[in-house]
Amino acid sequence: FIKESGKKAKDISAVYELKEKLGEGSFSEVRVAQHRRSLRLVAVKCIHKRALKGREALLENEIAVLRKIHHENIVSLEETFETPTKLYLVMTLLTGGELLERILERGNYTEKDASRVIQQVLEAVRYLHQLGVVHRDLKPENLLYESPLEDSKIVISDFGLSKMEEQGVLTTACGTPAYVAPELLQQMTYGREVDLWAVGVISYILLCGYPPFYHDNDTQLYRQIIKAEYEFDSPYWDYISESAKDFISHLLQKEPETRYNCEQALQHSWISGGEALEKNIH
Ligand code: ADP
Ligand code: MG
Repeated sequence: FIKESGKKAKDISAVYELKEKLGEGSFSEVRVAQHRRSLRLVAVKCIHKRALKGREALLENEIAVLRKIHHENIVSLEETFETPTKLYLVMTLLTGGELLERILERGNYTEKDASRVIQQVLEAVRYLHQLGVVHRDLKPENLLYESPLEDSKIVISDFGLSKMEEQGVLTTACGTPAYVAPELLQQMTYGREVDLWAVGVISYILLCGYPPFYHDNDTQLYRQIIKAEYEFDSPYWDYISESAKDFISHLLQKEPETRYNCEQALQHSWISGGEALEKNIH
């Protein structure tokens, strides 16, 4: 206990040297940092407390949840530091880049590659759901490769704090609603099913390179999502297996009750039955 609180009181700059910025969010920024003694590199999320405006308790709660999460496809929270104005979350540095960027760089991409990615995401989501945690903000930008290696694991990088944006998701102009489930848009009660919807949207994008729901006008976009109105357009989907389409259609179900859960999705033959094709789909 003493050690833990002693650590918290310590300034992060005594332990880590903060380096270049990796990304920025509404109330935080992520930077590379180097442990002064071991020279090991990590990622540090710096949260400006001022921007939290009275929601510190919510954040503390999220961090308590984060500490309990240990899964190979979810980024690890290694330690935290705190000052009166800032909170620092030290995470394992993921060096393989974002999911979509990496796919674009590759000369060859197959259904099998996409299926392997989705399987890992589903395993992470199943683990979260077993802990009673709903991610709510699954999207390709939050999926990073652990390393540049060809067979690198995919890791959910932005976890937990997503719930902090509770009021933000629907009302703010920034951020794309392209991954939001119908029940979230209709402000109905929602549950873990929203994560499976997002997995459906991500799967769709991995196979054709564009999102299932798209419109310049947000009102029109919401309308499409609420009706779960999407297509497997020709010619882009002509050479994609029926198995892949079947898988996606069970996730992009308008009604959360009829949507696949993690278990069902993991058991689908496109994920576990070897039905994902191995020919190039780029
Ligand atoms: P936000 O809540 O602002 O979306 P993220 O956690 O998604 O914050 O981080 C923003 C960006 O920082 C990410 O898109 C990614 O490029 C980078 N990033 C976040 N976490 C890590 C990490 N553990 N390793 C490497 N890069 C990271
Ligand atoms: Mg993010």
